[in-house]
Amino acid sequence: MDIIVVKKSVTAKELRHIVRKLEGRGFKANISKGTERTVIGVIGDTSKITEDESNAFASMPGVEKIHRIIQPFRLASRDFKSQDSVIKIGKQAIGGKKIHIMAGPCAVENLPTLLKIGKEVKKAGATFIRGGAFKPRTSPYTFQGLGEEGLKYLAEVREKTGMPVVTEIMDPRDIDVLLKYTDVIQIGTRNMQNFRLLQEVGQYDIPIVLKRGLSATVKELLMAAEYIMAQGNDKVILCERGIRTFETATRNTLDLNAIPVLKSLSHLPVIVDPSHGAGHWRLVAPMSKAAIAAGADGLIIEVHTNPEEALSDGEQSLKPGKFTTLMKELKAVAKAVGREI
Ligand code: PEP
Ligand code: MN
Repeated sequence: MDIIVVKKSVTAKELRHIVRKLEGRGFKANISKGTERTVIGVIGDTSKITEDESNAFASMPGVEKIHRIIQPFRLASRDFKSQDSVIKIGKQAIGGKKIHIMAGPCAVENLPTLLKIGKEVKKAGATFIRGGAFKPRTSPYTFQGLGEEGLKYLAEVREKTGMPVVTEIMDPRDIDVLLKYTDVIQIGTRNMQNFRLLQEVGQYDIPIVLKRGLSATVKELLMAAEYIMAQGNDKVILCERGIRTFETATRNTLDLNAIPVLKSLSHLPVIVDPSHGAGHWRLVAPMSKAAIAAGADGLIIEVHTNPEEALSDGEQSLKPGKFTTLMKELKAVAKAVGREI
C-alpha cells in the first residue's frame, strides 16, 4: 500500500487519524490536496505491509481506496498526482501552457560579458538566465568557475533584466551561498546520483532543475527526483540533456523519447537541454524544435556573444543572432502543439 486516496467528504479529524495511524507504524505521510482529490503518500518501506493491514487501512473512515504503486518512485509518479505539476518561480510558472526558455553562457566568465548575453537573450524572449559559477569540468586544469563572484554577477543580471537565475550546485557545503543569489538550483548530469546532494537540496523550498545522468535510465532519473521530494521539496523540474551511447557523431544522444515517457510516468515538468544533448551549435535549433514538438515544458540553451573565446562549451553555444532567429521559429512550433512561448 503506497497511496491512500481519501474521500471528498473526509474530515480533518479523519485525516489526522489516518496520519497518526501511519506514523504509529513508522511511516511518514505526505498529504497532497488536489482540486479533484486528496491523496496521502505513504513514505517508508511499505513492502512490509501485509494484505490484512492494507485492508484495515482501506476500511478506515474517510478512506476511499488504497492504491499500491508498482513503480519504485512514488511522490514523482502520476499515480500519486494525476495533474501536471506547475512550479512557480517569481512571476513565472513552469509546467503550464507557457514554455520557458532558459538561456545564457555555459560558465559565468565576467560581468560585462554576462550582462551583454543576458540583455540579448532577454530581448529575444528568454525568461531565465542560466550560467555556471561552480563548473563540473572533466579536467581539473581547465576553468572551474568563478564561485561566489559568479553568483553575484548572475544576481546583478537578474536585477537588470528581471530574469530569474538558474545555476549549478556541486557541493552540499555551497548551499547557503547559492541560496543567497539564485532562484533555481541545477543539479548537473554528473551529480544526478549524488544522493547526499539530492537530500540536501530537498531540505529547502527552492525549485531544482535535475539533469539526467550521463548513463542514467528514465527510472533512475525519477528515483533521483524521489530523493529530493522525499525530503519535502516537490519543486523538481526534470531535464533531458542527452545520454552516452555508442554514437560518436554527436557529443551525446538526445533522448527525445524520454519527454513523452517521463510525462506519462510523472507529473513533474520536463525541460530539454539541446546544447549538451547535441554538443554542436548547428544541431541546437533542430533539436530545440523537436523537443517542443515532443511536449517539453521548456529548454535550457547555451548562448555566448563570442563562442570562439568562451571558457567552456563554445562549440555548442549559439550567438545571440542565431538564438533570436530560433526563438521566432520556436514560437510557431509551440503554437502548433497548443502551447505558447
Ligand atoms: C551545464 O549546464 O553547463 C552542464 C554542465 O550541464 P550537464 O550537467 O548536463 O553536463
Ligand atoms: Mn555547458
